[in-house]
Formats: sequence, structure tokens, C-alpha cells
Amino acid sequence: FEPWNDPTAKPLIQFKNVTKRFGDFTAIDNQTFDIYEKEFFALLGPSGCGKTTMMRMLAGFEAPTEGMILLAGQDIAPIPPNKRAVNMMFQSYALFPHLSVWENIAFGLKRDNKSKDEIAARVAEMLKLTRLEKFAKRKPHQISGGQRQRVALARSLAKAPKLLLLDEPLGALDAKLRQDTQFELMDIQETTGTTFVIVTHDQEEAMTVASRVAVMDDGRIVQADTPARIYEMPNSVYVADFIGEVTIIRGTARRGDGAYEITFAEGQPTLFAESDTEFDNGQECHLAIRPEKVSITAQKPDDRRNALEGKILDIAYLGNLSTYHVELSSGQIVKAQTANTTRLSRRSFTWEDRVWLSWTDTAGILLKG
Ligand code: ATP
Repeated sequence: FEPWNDPTAKPLIQFKNVTKRFGDFTAIDNQTFDIYEKEFFALLGPSGCGKTTMMRMLAGFEAPTEGMILLAGQDIAPIPPNKRAVNMMFQSYALFPHLSVWENIAFGLKRDNKSKDEIAARVAEMLKLTRLEKFAKRKPHQISGGQRQRVALARSLAKAPKLLLLDEPLGALDAKLRQDTQFELMDIQETTGTTFVIVTHDQEEAMTVASRVAVMDDGRIVQADTPARIYEMPNSVYVADFIGEVTIIRGTARRGDGAYEITFAEGQPTLFAESDTEFDNGQECHLAIRPEKVSITAQKPDDRRNALEGKILDIAYLGNLSTYHVELSSGQIVKAQTANTTRLSRRSFTWEDRVWLSWTDTAGILLKG
């Protein structure tokens, strides 16, 4: 499922040179991108980067200062929020406390003057979809937080919108329930075939649920791609650093045989990285290395040419993983992660130990800035 790579696929949403200003502050800066039918699209980025503003423009609560947003080929600017085939589910859920689960889900359908039979059939379908049949008669205060979240979802989907906007939809749930609910959300999105756009602070959540993640910085989408490509092939130091753990080593690149040779600090060995990005000889570069790609050994490995010696500064035991912070003689800190695959696996290294860190030529990601 990669409609963005299919030239015949029709986008559901098109942003065309969209800029949003508040006074002289630019919240969204000349953005052009598409979201496709059946996509689960996540907007991710630090506080204030413009995620909510993007959503509010799609919902119709804000209008672009410049540019145009199309929904199924039509400019949405003249269409008021309640007439758009778009619905928004808020973090607070905004359920009506005095109405039952059934009535909450039926609310929008009643307002649209649908027939009694039609409403009953649609509500039944939504109750089934969200596994709430048993709770139809209860009021919001008589069900759990997770169930309330499902009522809000059922209500937002009842009118079969083309696009559902989800603003931190799982923010009110605790960590364990949140994880289960992410899978549920994916199932429901797939079953209904509705396009979902989610805003979340939680990068793991975005990576779990989304078909594409759009990483934003300062009013711009800097990379929109599958979670795996965002993680494995970030297009900038900003994206590499924003998503997951990473070590960034600054150096200069020189073309070698099959891989770039990177020199980075006096007294440190040359590093090697294969890269599709072109660098001039002597050009400044950043080598990004994910900690799980780094092996940690007591002896210098003889089968890898990326090998650095250092001293363990910190160890974090995370149950399934242990993370090590290792300091090189140049002061650079490199992160390494090991999987704790055996029960109570004997910790082979401890603080202050001198160790070797190594990785393959394809593990490091060479970036320009
Ligand atoms: P958060 O993750 O904190 O919710 P966000 O990425 O959703 O942040 P937005 O709410 O879209 O960010 O805001 C983007 C920028 O636009 C912020 O700097 C914010 O202060 C500014 N902004 C948003 N709405 C308005 C407004 N009505 N008037 C003035 N500035 C605004």
C-alpha cells in the first residue's frame, strides 16, 4: 500500500502552496503535499511546529492565508466545516454526558434527519465496529476511559466521513491501554477504509499506526514517508535526531572504494559509510548511527573496519534492551544498544569498562546537515 508511489492513484487531500499566517507570524510555510484515500497519515513534530494548524485548516476552523486545499479535487474553502466530508475527533472526546452511548453515536445522524431505521442500522454497525454493543445503554460516566475513546471514535465515523482527523486521540489513556488501542485504531481504519490524519506527540504511536509519517519543523513538512524509511533513511540530521535514538558524528567525507571515508577527530580512526548521497572530497558531513546497529565487544573486532575504542559512561537497563553511552578519547559520545535475549543475561560490561564499538559500512547514514 504505497499510493504516493502510484502515478494513477488519486489524492483525497491536496495542499497547494498553503501558507497560514497569524499576524506577521508564519505558522505554515508554503506547503504542497497530497494525502491519499485509505491512508493513515501522521503529523509529527515538536510543540509549535504547526500540526494543529494543519488539522484546523482541514477541518475548516481556519482558512489558509495563501494557497488552496482540495478535498477529492474540490476547493474546500467555500464549504463550511459541518458540510465537509471531514470529521474531527478531539482528545477530550466531547461526549454528551446526559446521553447514552447509543444516543451519542446517533447524534449527528439525527441532526441530519436520517430515518429511524437508517439511524438504528448505522448505530448498530458502529457499536459492532468498536465492540461496544454491550454498553449501548450506558452513559459516558458508566464506562471506562478506553470505552469512552471508542464511543468518540464510533460517533466520528457514524456519518461515514471521507476524512477523519484525530487530535491526540489516545492522549488520555495510560501506556498499556494506549498500545492495545493503537492496534484497534489501525483495524478500524482498515475496516472502514476511511482516510485518517492523526496528530500526536508520541513518535512511537505515529510509527505504529501510520502508513506515512510527516515530520514537521517550523511550519514545514521536512520528510513524509513510511515509518521504516523515516527511521532508516532520514533525509536530514533533524529527522534522524527527532525519530528514535541516534549518535551523530560530524566529520568530513572523502570518496573511497565503494564507501565514503569519514575523518572526524584527531587521533580517531577513519570511518566508512556507503551512501547514495553525493559528497565532494573534503565536504562536511554528519554520520548518523542507530544504537542497535552498534556492537559492543571487549576486543577489537577483526571483521569490521568501523571500530572505535571508548569507555562506558552510562548504562540504562530497559528490560528487553540495555543502552550504553560510551565516551571516545575525543569526547564524542556514542550510543550502543544490546538486546537482552536471555533471562537475567549476565551483564558483560560495567561502568568505566574500556570497550570496542563497531558497525558495518551500511549501518551508518551519511547526511549533509
Ligand atoms: P502543539 O504540539 O504544542 O500542540 P502544534 O505543532 O500543534 O503544537 P500549532 O498549534 O499548530 O502547533 O501552532 C503553530 C504556531 O502557530 C505556534 O507557534 C502557535 O503559537 C501559533 N498559533 C497557532 N494559533 C494561533 C493563533 N490563533 N494566533 C496566533 N498564533 C497562533
